[in-house]
Amino acid sequence: MRVRMRVLGAVSAALVGVVTLVLPAGAAPAQVAPGGPRYTAGAAGAGDAYFPSAGNGGYDVRHYDLDITYAPPPAAPAPLVGQLSGVATIDFVATQDLDRFNLDLRGLSVQAVTIGDKPAGKVAPPAPGATVDGAAYWQVQDDAARVWELTVQPRPKIKKGQAARVVVAYGGQTIRPLDIEGALYGWVTMRDGAMVVGEPEGSMTWYPVSDHQTDKATYSFEITVPEGKVAVANGLPARDPVTEDGWTTWFWDAPDAQASYLTTASVGDFDLRFSETAEGLPIVDAVDDNLTATNRATTEASLALQADMIGFLEAAFVPYPFNSSGAIVDDDTVGYALETQTRPVYSRVARESTVVHELAHQWFGDAVSPGRWQDIWLNEGWATYVEWLWSEHSGRETAQMSFDDVMDIPADNAFWELPIADPGADDLFEAPIYDRGAATLHALRGKIGDDAFFAATREWLTRYDDSTGTTEDFQAISEEASGQDLQAFFDVWLRAPGRPTTW
Ligand SMILES: [Zn+2]
Repeated sequence: MRVRMRVLGAVSAALVGVVTLVLPAGAAPAQVAPGGPRYTAGAAGAGDAYFPSAGNGGYDVRHYDLDITYAPPPAAPAPLVGQLSGVATIDFVATQDLDRFNLDLRGLSVQAVTIGDKPAGKVAPPAPGATVDGAAYWQVQDDAARVWELTVQPRPKIKKGQAARVVVAYGGQTIRPLDIEGALYGWVTMRDGAMVVGEPEGSMTWYPVSDHQTDKATYSFEITVPEGKVAVANGLPARDPVTEDGWTTWFWDAPDAQASYLTTASVGDFDLRFSETAEGLPIVDAVDDNLTATNRATTEASLALQADMIGFLEAAFVPYPFNSSGAIVDDDTVGYALETQTRPVYSRVARESTVVHELAHQWFGDAVSPGRWQDIWLNEGWATYVEWLWSEHSGRETAQMSFDDVMDIPADNAFWELPIADPGADDLFEAPIYDRGAATLHALRGKIGDDAFFAATREWLTRYDDSTGTTEDFQAISEEASGQDLQAFFDVWLRAPGRPTTW
């Protein structure tokens, strides 16, 4: 969801400039001279212009197994600081001959790295061109430049196409990390546990990861918390929880390909409830025991609609993309909801419009993720448009009325100035991304007709399932389905500032 007030001003351009200058070890250029070394360093970033050091190159992660022990903060007035220790087992396949590679890890320190059965020794970053004997790792954490990298130099080196298992033991104090806009995200320490919401690149605050959606993977979790606390992650329970010596371990398995920012392992005083849709899709809801009576009533009414909403979305588009659904509703708050895969997180209350929005994201954002962060309107425009469709389906305001509301915003309003196909890293969650994005889809539907519009949408959800797509990809599919040249349409709606007048 991510609608909230801006806290920081336009600092991202300056930050991005710094980041490109200080990319740490791992950014060495490929060496391709004939007879020269075949092995090169994997890139320190996935190539996203908005978050240059998020994600990494040189390998494709297949699976993360996260074994985490977490102690929430003591009672107030103790500071909101928790303790986390983890062992992350990461299975990847090299996509180039790897001399060294990076993971993203922010605010936590590494105790040991093992590749296969070979422990890596910690060293200081070597000087450029220096040789380091044996496997080694080092960490760069530069908060000011938003660079957080763990570099691993495996020995023997890893051949392209070779599978490798990296085990990282890590941990430290957990705090309340801020994203580039100044909003809480990542592993957000709460008095009663943690609210874990990683968009856009906050998963690195709780596990070593290639933190970009272009490298999706499956996950399994073992989360150990004080007895009485409940830990809820993506997917389904792998087995019953085990309690020993005052600690309970919760086991979750998420077998569907998942972007890192959609990973959660929220901890709290949850009531865990299991149900299913008429078609047998499991629904797991985790509802905080401490919601206010009003918020609880609203939340229960909304969650009771989940099966109907999923049926509505399946009828409009394609079958539900994952093995389970549900919700995490926490009384502590980061101030927004997030579409964490299979199990969105809600702050304090789950309202009907928010629940259908986050469920829509399971198709638009989770199954098909934005190829670059600048493509965020493909997430938020679609989820907002589904809110409009659900409202009409429920006999309330029609999609056309919602569209008219947007077009009633005066032409000189700043709303129309944001180019939503490239809004900048600071403006990913501004209102026009949502509302002009939804209006774009409604206008497209009017221009190419219902048959072509829904055919294009189904093709989008099929072709890019378990993957990512860009604005250009979406335009191409719309053109294929309609047989129309839509360049001018998408320019007017997404790329040019100003309220569209003709399209
Ligand atoms: Zn959203």
